[in-house]
Order: sequence, then structure tokens, then C-alpha cells
Amino acid sequence: MRPLIQVCTNVFKRLCRILTPKRAFRYQLWALVILALPLKAWSQGSTGSTASAPSSTASPADRVYRNGVIFTADVRNGTAEALAIRDGRIVYVGNNQGVAPFVGPSTASVDLKGRFLMPGLVDGHMHPLEAGLQLLKCSLNYESLTVAEMQQRIQACLDRAPASDANAWLEVVSWFQESMRPAGVKTNRATLDALKTARPILVVSSFGHTALVNSRALALAQITAATPDPIGGKIWRDEHGEPTGLFEDAGYAVFSDLLPKPTEAEYLAAAMAALKAMSRQGVTSFLDAAAPSESMSAFAAVRRAGGLTVRAHFAPVIEPSEVGDLPAAVARVVGLAKKYDEGATAPAPSITVHNAKLFLDGVIAAPAFTGAVSEPYLMNAGTAEKPNWVPGASWGPAVYFPAGALATLLVELGRAGIDPHMHADGDGAVHAALDGIEALRKALPAADIRPAIAHDEMVEPADFPRYKKLAAIPVLSLQWGKPAGDTLGLTNYFGPARMKILEPSGFLAAAGARIAFGSDWPVDQLDEWFALKVGVTRTNAPDAPPEYRGRLGDDPGLSRVTVLRAATIDAAYELHEDDATGSIEVGKFADLIVLDRNPVQVPAEEIAKVRVLETVVAGKTVYADSTAPH
Ligand SMILES: [Zn+2]
Repeated sequence: MRPLIQVCTNVFKRLCRILTPKRAFRYQLWALVILALPLKAWSQGSTGSTASAPSSTASPADRVYRNGVIFTADVRNGTAEALAIRDGRIVYVGNNQGVAPFVGPSTASVDLKGRFLMPGLVDGHMHPLEAGLQLLKCSLNYESLTVAEMQQRIQACLDRAPASDANAWLEVVSWFQESMRPAGVKTNRATLDALKTARPILVVSSFGHTALVNSRALALAQITAATPDPIGGKIWRDEHGEPTGLFEDAGYAVFSDLLPKPTEAEYLAAAMAALKAMSRQGVTSFLDAAAPSESMSAFAAVRRAGGLTVRAHFAPVIEPSEVGDLPAAVARVVGLAKKYDEGATAPAPSITVHNAKLFLDGVIAAPAFTGAVSEPYLMNAGTAEKPNWVPGASWGPAVYFPAGALATLLVELGRAGIDPHMHADGDGAVHAALDGIEALRKALPAADIRPAIAHDEMVEPADFPRYKKLAAIPVLSLQWGKPAGDTLGLTNYFGPARMKILEPSGFLAAAGARIAFGSDWPVDQLDEWFALKVGVTRTNAPDAPPEYRGRLGDDPGLSRVTVLRAATIDAAYELHEDDATGSIEVGKFADLIVLDRNPVQVPAEEIAKVRVLETVVAGKTVYADSTAPH
């Protein structure tokens, strides 16, 4: 949701070459691959199933799957019973009889016994390196905790790995601050000072906007009552002006400078931990939606060591401060693409760089209110006892890229063959993103550019149809569309009418938008199936506190098929790899997952309980649930 890592984006400015010829070559090569395929897909239109013609001369497959319920995510959402894989690609999709000619003496034959098989998940927006680092840190696991429970968890981390150095920082992550129990309970440095340690402690909220530190950390950072609030940040103070230990946004940047930077080995371990977590969830492609150079180099190193198990896409960030020299900014991204992008001919899963990330605003979340909105945030003109919420003076910040510069930048990126991935959270930022895309479409009407707008938590209804008209892709973290502390907490600031259209996934789909899913991990824990469930139900988990029951707003939500497509073929479209992945079709890579239940048929709440039994990338099993019954 927010820029979790925004570092080191200016390093490669010196490199400047053009990506376009390479991409053209990529597509020519693809055409050759398709033409060389021995079999061509054909469809059984009347049944809605998908099949390729069996051939008596079919050469044996490496692996076949039979007796399954196969959701293909092809253009008709067809289903099938069987498929065959050779050399990492799908060579047959159809019924059980038709797969028989593909079975030779060395073919592995898998009896799915009625299980559900579908394309692997494509996660169109996440921050995998930061997520991987967090997996290796002391974590509060996004849980709803009491103060005592929070203290116990952190003490357990201290006890588990005692540090020899009293100055060694303990970093604690994934603190779900808005969901502390009981609601409204306060934390401060005394919460952490009560722990049995002399070490400095930094606890960061899962949303990444708030941090809590102990007195030792305050002392090391030399923060006192005399320290002023930094620009873009806040130091919470008690009635004597003393820092309470709580900080907002830029207020705690000082601690990041004190913490030791992760080593190369730690980055590598983080990348591998992230890949492992993704494969368990069935993710076969991801986009690092704000890729620092550390991320690209860590995953490239994993790749060189033969450990890359997920197709890896990276979107380096172009900062608003670069508007003074936009050609140089674009050239920098193109240079990174030259350096890391392996092209479609590389053995899968490969590394791709053909996105650039632009932050247009911050977040509409309380208490940050850094989302650029089209109507002012409301403020309480009354008292706590007798509130009176009226339009305030803040529309959030001005959109980070001025309109003219944004339009120029998008066109320049388009010319270089780079897809823009814009962070736009408030409806003001979304409107600016759409205006920019309109300029891009006007300037380059024939170009195959796939501009994405990530988050879209608030969108003006008049803008709903513009996504379809401009082929702008909303990349949505569907798990946000439910009643919870972070959404309902906005009610006072937006008012009931605007709250009805918060997280407008269903409205956008109804207006014809092609929605792509992006988890935004580690803003939330990686739980793809819970996210897809919320996309359908717009409800929290059944065991959520009573105040979080029911649906969020008036949005109709998405159909199950739309949700499954959002996390497969439509996110593959966003990542410009839908010609190779995202659906179960002849000629595509065999990126697929086998599930323990059918998410199209089980009660909607059960989608959250889907367990991935096997994850396959380019025909190779990268994860298998060893506890699954065979
Ligand atoms: Zn993000």
C-alpha cells in the first residue's frame, strides 16, 4: 500500500539503451514457437470445454494430468479433464480419452481424482524482498493482540536469540496496531521498557506508517522533548512534551539509519524465503512493485544459483524528484531492463523488467491521510462527546507528479516499451493517473502499453468507465474490501456516502475494467486465498470481532470466475506475459496449481481455506504438499 522500500533508484542512471528492439524480437520468437507447435488448440464451443485435437502421431509427454476439474481461464473460461506437458509447455488440454496418445513409457501420469487444477497465481503487486526480510525478523504476525500478549511475543523473540551486544537492535514487524485489543488501547515506550532487556527495540506497524520504540532506542537516536517533528512525520508526545515512543512516517526514519543494513547473505536468504512462501500459496509469477536494486540483484543471484521458482518481474521506481530530467529517468529504467531482463528465450522461470513504478500519492488510511482525494477529508468541528464532522481543509497532498510531467513521463515510458505501474490510492490521484493514461493513449494510440493503477481504494464514480475506455488496469488488493479497523476507521473522515464506494472492485468490474490482483505483501500477510475470498464476499473472516461482521459498503463484489481470472490471466495481462502464462492453453508454459478443493463450487467462505497441493512452473514441480493424501 505504501512504498515499503524506496531506496537506491538513482544508481543506474548512467546506463541508457533502448528496450524496444529486444521486445520486438521477443514477440517474433514467440510467433515461431507457436507455429512450431505440433498441435493446435480447438474448442468444443457447445460444452464450454477446451480441448486440443488428439493426434495418433503425438510424441509422448513428460507428464500428463488426468481425471481433474481443470479451470483453464481461457477466453471462454472453459473446463477440461486432462492436460499434457512436454518441455515445460502445455501440449494438450481436453478430455481423458484425448490425452491417451500422449502417454509413453517415460511419461509421468498423475491421477487428479477429481481435484481442481488451474493456472498458477500471478501476483501483480507485492514487495517480495521486504516481505522476505520480514519473514526472517521477529514478527507479531498481523495478529490482534492485547498489550500483555504483545509484550510476551517480543520477550519470546528476545529470549530465543539472545544478543551478546547490548546495543544490538531488535526489529519487530507486522504489528497490527489498528487492531490492538481492547479497541483504542494505547501503547508507548513503557510497553517495551517493561521487557527484560537492555537492547534497543523498534516495532513497526504492518501498514508501515507507525513505529514504537523503547527508551533505550530513543536514547541511542538522541530524541528528546527538544527534537522537532521532521517534515512528513510526527513524534507523539506526552503532556510534558516528552516523546511517548510512538512515531509516524518520516518521524522514525532516524531509526532506519541506526539499524544495520542487511548483508548480501541476508538479502539472499530473504529472497529465498519469499519464493518459498509464494510457491506454497500457488504463486507462479510476481511483480515487485517498487523494486530497489537490492531486490533485482538478490533474485538474480538466486536465479544464477538455480533457485528461482517463480517468474520474477520488477518495477524500478521513478521518483517525483526526477521530473527535471524525464528522459534520464526513463533511460535509467531501460538500463535496468538491459541489465536484468532475460527475455522470453531464457529458461523459465526468468527475470523480467518492463515496468516502472510511479507513486502518485500516499495512503488514505488514518492517521496518515496522505491519499490525494477529490473532496476534503472531514474533520471534527465538535467535541469528542458531541462530534460534528465537516469538510476540513485537507485534500491530502498534491499529486506527486504534476499533470504535464506525468503525461510526458507516461509517453516516454510508452515509447521505451515500459509499462507504467502507478500507485494511486485516493480518488484525486486515481483521476490524475487516468488523465495521464488518456494523454498516453492520444500520443501513442497503437502502442501495446499496459498501464496499471495500483490500489484504487477510492475512485470517483464518474471515473469508473474510464478504466475500460483507456484500457487502464486496476491492480487491487482484494483483501482490503472488507469491514476491518483500517476500512471502518475511515468512516468519520469520508462520511457515509463516500464510504459506500470504498474499495470499488465490483463497481469497476461492472464498468468493464479488467481487474488484476496484487497482494501488496507484506502490507498484509501473504494469504492469497483469503484475499480472493474477500474479493467475492466483501466480508471479513467468520471469527472476526462483531463490529467487523457484514459486508463493506455497497460494492457488489466480484464473481468467483472474475476473481480467479484477476489472479491468473488478467494479472498475466498486466505483466505482459499473457501470451505465455495465465491460462491453461496449448502452447503456454505449464504454470499450474492443484488445489484440495474447488473454489468455484465450495461455499464462498471456504475459498479462504483452499490449500495448494502442488505448484508447477514451466512443467517443473516447485512445491508439493507432503501431507496431502495421494
Ligand atoms: Zn505496494
